Amino acid sequence: MSMTLQEVLKMDVTTPWEAEAWIKALVDNGFIWHLEDSPEEVINGRTGESLFQTEDDIASARQRAAACFALLDDPFETIVTCEWEDEVDPEITRMNMLIDRGMSATDAQKFMDDLPPLDKERRIEMFFHCGKCVEEIKDGSANTNSPREYGSYEIGYTVRGIQVWCVRHECNVVSIDFQGYQHPAV
Ligand SMILES: [Zn+2]
Repeated sequence: MSMTLQEVLKMDVTTPWEAEAWIKALVDNGFIWHLEDSPEEVINGRTGESLFQTEDDIASARQRAAACFALLDDPFETIVTCEWEDEVDPEITRMNMLIDRGMSATDAQKFMDDLPPLDKERRIEMFFHCGKCVEEIKDGSANTNSPREYGSYEIGYTVRGIQVWCVRHECNVVSIDFQGYQHPAV
């Protein structure tokens, strides 16, 4: 059920369970921000305006964000879990990230408009394959012609970026360096 910002800002955040529910409500309704940031500085990615418009909103947001840090070991863990489960609009996350880096709301919107859609459809243009797996498919020892069937990979974040690891051969397939840029989900 969608909630207005005012409704979210009235939720009780006095127990760990309530803190998680509050973060989930922020995520679900597109109001999530880096909770350690001061609420005055939070920009609504859609409008480019301040997310919290009144002193009451700011005070309420500040008090609840602080409660989350006091009540939860790692509020960001909750945010990542929420995003994973509930598919927070990644376009909003990305646009906020661009604005955080100093891009104007207009330029950020233009940048987003030029991007291909990011959704639940598979839009992979080129797959990562382990060279050894591909060799074994080619020479017949894999007993299958399907890289999808034969491949077994672990994929995850590293300190530098993302790595794809072949489980079958225990070797690196690709290690992508974000060159200091941080993905919002990390
Ligand atoms: Zn392999």
